[in-house]
Amino acid sequence: SYGIKALLEKGKDLLQQEVVVNGWVRSFRSNRFVALNDGSTINNVQVVVDFENFDESIIKQISTAASLSVIGVVVESEGAGQEIEIIAKEIKVLGVAPSDEVQGTILQPKQHSLETLREQAHLRFRTNLFGAIFRVRNSLMFAIHKYFNENGFVYVNTPIITGSDAEGAGEMFHVTNLDVNNLPRTEDGAVDYTQDFFGKSTNLTVSGQLEGETAAMGLGKVYTFGPTFRAENSNTSRHLAEFWMIEPEIAFFDLDQNMDLAEDFMKYVISYAMENCKDDLAFLAQRYDKEQQGKPAAERSELGLIERLEYVLNNQFVRLSYTEAVEILKESKPNKKGKFKYPIEGWGADLQSEHERYLVEKHFKTPVILFDYPAEIKAFYMRMNEDGKTVRAMDVLFPGIGEIIGGSQREERLEVLDEKMKKFGIDPEELWWYRDTRRFGTVPHSGFGLGLERLVLFVTGMGNIRDVIPFPRTPNNAEF
Ligand code: ATP
Ligand code: MG
Ligand code: MG
Ligand code: MG
Repeated sequence: SYGIKALLEKGKDLLQQEVVVNGWVRSFRSNRFVALNDGSTINNVQVVVDFENFDESIIKQISTAASLSVIGVVVESEGAGQEIEIIAKEIKVLGVAPSDEVQGTILQPKQHSLETLREQAHLRFRTNLFGAIFRVRNSLMFAIHKYFNENGFVYVNTPIITGSDAEGAGEMFHVTNLDVNNLPRTEDGAVDYTQDFFGKSTNLTVSGQLEGETAAMGLGKVYTFGPTFRAENSNTSRHLAEFWMIEPEIAFFDLDQNMDLAEDFMKYVISYAMENCKDDLAFLAQRYDKEQQGKPAAERSELGLIERLEYVLNNQFVRLSYTEAVEILKESKPNKKGKFKYPIEGWGADLQSEHERYLVEKHFKTPVILFDYPAEIKAFYMRMNEDGKTVRAMDVLFPGIGEIIGGSQREERLEVLDEKMKKFGIDPEELWWYRDTRRFGTVPHSGFGLGLERLVLFVTGMGNIRDVIPFPRTPNNAEF
């Protein structure tokens, strides 16, 4: 019994052998040729059904989307597609798929829009496109674990239900075990959320960083890789309410080392996926390149998907301070009108994604690492620079994506951290455990957060983050 991927890889070595293959029918041509796929590869194997050998009742049950178990003999294929095909000796129809019912679904073999495919996310796995995307996603996840484990990192799991709001951004999902019909109230009648979780206010994690830092201040090099939740009430193609984040955290590590790590890591995982998903990426590249040709010249990517990936692997990321970036942006003419939608307001303002993408796609044409941001626009835990105005933050910006990684060197000096918390209105009592890492043997340390789905977007060339996660969670999407 062979998976179709292994079967096609062995190819002619299997000639004349009897094999068992299982799969779903992608098409049944001339009542004779079944294209069978089992999800292991983008390629189908052709099963030849000679009708003189089969009951008409069996042949009638074979149709698009039906599932089969076939015993057959491997022979050389005369068609152009694969080296081999299978002459069926026995066919078991495991599950039929009546044609009139398939008609109303995305299983019907024709072009469906990505929106339609999204509405039937539970069936998308059967399509070539989503098969390719999810195998690439898997390969990237595996490469991530491989990279860190080969480099001495310890994988730690940080809590999903937590009392801490790492970013102070307030985009949190509340978690409660209270009876919603009988919520405890404070004296002025407001819901008393402090009673949430057996007497403590809790939310779903927005980042495992603060807990990850405490692990690094003992284990040295750690990474977390888990689901992350943000109540993003906006409809962008780059934000999900539930996404997967990879967060390495390293003790005795400064921002320059952090930038080196981010670049080396990104190149490793991208090159791993390119090596291990050649067929899938060739298919995705075809889709991407065709889509680019349909765009107006100004929006078109100059490089095809594979060229773009290779370009990232073969070129150094540009490193640029926030201050230098603002200078460049003030002087740029991004389009015919010569203006950004949100003009750069000068030093101190947060960059919009149009600014980030301009730097990457038009100005440098390579990934960019921006560092040393104004302290006011970044989180409280980032290390203050000697200038007293900027912090040791970094954002890695990628073409077609914008921000893909956010990271920093962390403030290791307790008195500076306390000062910062005060400024940001954070109660030091609540973060007593975080402060402890600075009280007992504090060391310089750094880390970053990568959104898995933004990485998958980049590698697959897909345009919408909803199409690179099996079941996207966005404001209007919690069906499955
Ligand atoms: P953005 O500016 O795009 O909203 P952020 O600065 O809020 O991102 P961080 O808090 O720095 O994000 O999180 C680290 C990384 O997690 C980001 O660089 C990005 O890759 C990813 N990320 C953040 N928010 C989301 C989201 N809502 N959906 C998917 N990925 C996300
Ligand atoms: Mg955000
Ligand atoms: Mg950001
Ligand atoms: Mg960020």
